Amino acid sequence: MTVIALELISNIQELTTCDPKYYKHTQRIFLLLHEHGLAYQAESMVNYDPVDKTVLANEQVDANGCSWRSGAKVEKKLLKQWFLRISAFRDALLEDLDLLARNGDWPEHVLSMQRNWLGKSKGARIKFQIFAYDDTKHPAIEIFTTRSDTLFGVQYVALAATHPLVIEQSKKDAQLRSFLDNMPNLPQDSKDGFLLPNVRAINPLAFDPLTPDATKASLPIYVASYVLADYGDGAVMGVPGHDLRDNAFWKLNRSGDPIRMVVKQSPTSEDLSNEDAYVHQGVLTSHSGRFAGKRSAGAAQEIVELLKRNELGDFAETWRLRDWLISRRRYWGTPIPIIHCESCGPVPVPVDQLPVELPQVEGHWLRGKAGNPLEEAHDWVNTQCPNCHSPAKRDTDTMDTFVDSSWYFVRFADPQNAEMPFSPEAVNGLLPVDLYIGGVEHAILHLLYARFIYKFLATTSLWPAGDSNDIRGEPFKQLLTQGMVHGKTYTDPSTGRFLKPEEVSLDTPSQPTIIATGETANVSFEKMSKSKYNGVDPTTCIEMYGADATRAHMLFQAPASEVLEWDEGKISGVTRWMTKLHDYVCRNNTVTKLSLNESPKSYFTTKLPSISSVDQKESLIWDKEIDLWLSVQRTIISVTESFSTASSLNTVVSDLMTLSNTLLESEKACNEALRYHALSAVLRMMAPITPAFAEECWSILHGSPASIFKQAFPTPDNTLEMLQQQRRSQVCAVQVNGKLKFAATIPLPPGDMTGDELSRWVTEKILETDEGRQRLKGGGNMDINKAKKVIVVGGKTVNFVL
Ligand SMILES: [Zn+2]
Repeated sequence: MTVIALELISNIQELTTCDPKYYKHTQRIFLLLHEHGLAYQAESMVNYDPVDKTVLANEQVDANGCSWRSGAKVEKKLLKQWFLRISAFRDALLEDLDLLARNGDWPEHVLSMQRNWLGKSKGARIKFQIFAYDDTKHPAIEIFTTRSDTLFGVQYVALAATHPLVIEQSKKDAQLRSFLDNMPNLPQDSKDGFLLPNVRAINPLAFDPLTPDATKASLPIYVASYVLADYGDGAVMGVPGHDLRDNAFWKLNRSGDPIRMVVKQSPTSEDLSNEDAYVHQGVLTSHSGRFAGKRSAGAAQEIVELLKRNELGDFAETWRLRDWLISRRRYWGTPIPIIHCESCGPVPVPVDQLPVELPQVEGHWLRGKAGNPLEEAHDWVNTQCPNCHSPAKRDTDTMDTFVDSSWYFVRFADPQNAEMPFSPEAVNGLLPVDLYIGGVEHAILHLLYARFIYKFLATTSLWPAGDSNDIRGEPFKQLLTQGMVHGKTYTDPSTGRFLKPEEVSLDTPSQPTIIATGETANVSFEKMSKSKYNGVDPTTCIEMYGADATRAHMLFQAPASEVLEWDEGKISGVTRWMTKLHDYVCRNNTVTKLSLNESPKSYFTTKLPSISSVDQKESLIWDKEIDLWLSVQRTIISVTESFSTASSLNTVVSDLMTLSNTLLESEKACNEALRYHALSAVLRMMAPITPAFAEECWSILHGSPASIFKQAFPTPDNTLEMLQQQRRSQVCAVQVNGKLKFAATIPLPPGDMTGDELSRWVTEKILETDEGRQRLKGGGNMDINKAKKVIVVGGKTVNFVL
């Protein structure tokens, strides 16, 4: 049962996709798809468990071809299934990935997985004529290929088990039937083949007089399990010289027969005669008739044009994407709202009769019965045709639960709407989703289905086009795929065995030893798993350190999209930070008694004009105050940015730690009111990550019930530029032989400058000032260029020893 919750501002919205109140609208969307010709029934080969009498997904069939649940040998069976025509949207689904790639809004690896799944490839569809020894006529075999340049190298044709020619031949060939029966037992990468004895294929180039004899020879036709029924046309042209799988198939089924190489790397390279496939593009060899010497790309183009003129082929594109098979034969899932009538065919359930609710099938699974439970609910199945009112039967399939989740984010915009899935006003106001967070396991199925249904909804009467057409293209503006938490894992170096915590001594934490043998255990970080004894229960950590420290630690250790190596020892950095800040708050809790009417901005603006006349001590304080407030301003900007993208929450914690340190260092030096404002900003920025801690500190500071959660998040006060300007120069006390001569305002030295380099730099800058030029340069006894020694103290004082 799926419950999906989302907090919208202050009221929590909850959806339950298995609730009839929700799936009523899923059925409505199904009917809209049906109305648009995008939901249809077709025969399809499925994995069928004969014991449980259920259809299985490919993932539910193990390597030996057995059901994960019953252990029975899985059969391939043709069943009538419901499909959603996602292929009608494939161009938009592919093209709009470019929009999502902008600014890195979606992770590159998800985009490339979607591109591969859609799998658009350009090539040609080529006809191979068939001749039969018994003179029966057969339609030509059509084959899609992306490598027309290797057509001279075709040495056989291979067909999928479902190809019409195979089905036809199997009727009179018992051996073929037994090969087909055994096919599901073959391993996935099997290159077993069955040679069809009565038919041969002709390479279409055989009709060209300039084609070499080898290519003109007729071709054997095989049935092969490596040819997928749903790729191209269930037929492959076998080119052992230039395709790895074809090469392996040839060696297994025709061992000893020479392989024809029709492409080589360059015009000057030797003609290849080796047994391995050369899979790259290159230059056509002498086996390629009139195309010999031409480059692959140009030759492919010309070959297809030649075939096209003779009606033996044409340019074509193919997609890997199949239509979405949504039929399930389970009790859970949304019933398909279709009634089958003998005279009217499949009839949609009228919208005012939705939802079609699941019937009560008490204890069906408890009784251990096999098959589709809905088929047994006779009272439910037998109904009346909405069209002609004669007796009819309900469809007993339920929908793949991915259908429910393909539009739930749209429902969140209008969750209480009883009449419609959503109102246009509601979705126009809230969609698309700004930031969508989910595991990378959803990179293909869920995200592709959701994009499809969203694009479909935008074409329906439910969501008429308004002014804001830009929101109707893609449902999720930004996607974040969160990383996994990996646990510290101990293994025995001699056996590789995973060690239980009690088998390892951590007396010397840097050198964990195996108690039984005294050997040093190997340490690694791996996905948490019971078999690796590396799981961590967050509640233990929360009990020990508190929820706030645990949360801050988790966020700090890695960006949300990366793997987090869980090392509890490192939490001490976070607890130290919180403790120091808490102590600081306790020491400075009298601040509210001060006058806080003056904002830091007006404090600095008032004080700036008098700054050139202050003494050295005051100038140091001034610098510290500027540094503190600069640090606050920069942190507000970076933390706001990090919170709004959510991808770098780890830097929020590290930025706040740095600012806290600057604040702690300023305790003795800076204006108390200024420090209060800095502390207030730190606490308000911490509140989303350490809410209880921030609230506690806030109440110590103010001694009142005013909650930190009633305070605004800090915003920049536009002092950054002014303060940066000020901080670019400093007042430097100039001494000669230990006696103060004057104070000069010079720029800040570059941060990494030290030693003689710094002395030379400071001297130069002092001589550039008016006073320096007048008093310390020239022929007098004050020429600092002739100083024996230059002592620079922190860039603030310089003593020239003449
Ligand atoms: Zn009817």
